[in-house]
Amino acid sequence: MLSSRIRARGLGPFRTLQNRIQSRRSLHLAPPFLLDDYTPRYQLLSSADAAKKRSQAYAHLRNCNLCPRECGVNRYETTGMCLIGAETVSVNVIAPHFGEEPCIQGHRGSGSVFFSGCNLRCTFCQNHDIAHRRAGFDLTPQDLAGWYLKLQDVGGAHNINLVTPEHVVPQVALSILDARDLGLCVPVVYNTSAFDSLASLELLDGLVDVYLPDFKVWSPATSRRLLKADDYAAAATESIRAMHAQVGDLCFTADGIAKKGLLVRHLVMPGKEAEGERIMRFLAEEVSRDTFVNIMEQYRPDAHVGKPKRRGGAKHDGDGEGEGSEDVRYADINRPVTREEVSVVRKAAEAVGLWRFCDPPKHDGFAI
Ligand code: SF4
Repeated sequence: MLSSRIRARGLGPFRTLQNRIQSRRSLHLAPPFLLDDYTPRYQLLSSADAAKKRSQAYAHLRNCNLCPRECGVNRYETTGMCLIGAETVSVNVIAPHFGEEPCIQGHRGSGSVFFSGCNLRCTFCQNHDIAHRRAGFDLTPQDLAGWYLKLQDVGGAHNINLVTPEHVVPQVALSILDARDLGLCVPVVYNTSAFDSLASLELLDGLVDVYLPDFKVWSPATSRRLLKADDYAAAATESIRAMHAQVGDLCFTADGIAKKGLLVRHLVMPGKEAEGERIMRFLAEEVSRDTFVNIMEQYRPDAHVGKPKRRGGAKHDGDGEGEGSEDVRYADINRPVTREEVSVVRKAAEAVGLWRFCDPPKHDGFAI
């Protein structure tokens, strides 16, 4: 009966409806990704839950399993691989930052806190001067909370952006709880390598609004050689699923600023586009086709890449694998990526159904 009516009236109205739904879906800033208003998750925690999080944070520091290294050390007495203790964190820079995605930095900047140290040892690290060393000033969680307020009230930052925080999650949790009592009211962004443990993400549940993980490489052989972590992809897949379960897909308010959800970055690496393709497939099939993705092309050789080989080094750290007579370390990634390599990853992402990319705007409005 219905089909004969449709035939009688023609398919026009149905097609129009379908087209309208499809065109709405092609906009980033439209339902269901548009929020009328937003209250940060840490503001909604009950005082009982906040107290529970405080005691969990202290317990983690006494037996640290906050990242897949699982050192199990008491950080009040010694340090694990990340070299950071319990009482303070080491911070390199705190400032409004304009090098993030447009929906994170907005027009007033993202209130960024760059932590020193890291639980990975990426041979190509683009921030190695602070990530591979304990270079910075020591701050307690209470000091950090004060800085968040300055970023919000004096700097006018759209959010608090915690950069490379995986190894200082308990101190970060305590600082967010302190800051909420002082009047913090902007979203918290957790800007991570995705080498997090589930215990750590559980502690952050209810404190973080935007998860900003970087998914670097897919194969264990590559992560062993380039990140010094065999199990990186296994940890990253588990972590990113858990992050999405907490906050869902990326949502904006009408000003174009991201307030809640997941934004995944992937830095395309020279000759590693097949790993990028696999990462895109994982996001589409196991996280969400509506995942907001930033496929980045700014890789440049840095840190240990392109440095002269150490005598005997190839035997010990794999930096000579498959490189024949090359006399520099990691010669295979000692160049920028090509446009073609970036395009392979982008096309693979589109082929698996991803559609929310961090592209320059096609109009004169906000780049969202
Ligand atoms: S954060 Fe990771 S690297 Fe640092 S002590 Fe804990 S388990 Fe070890």
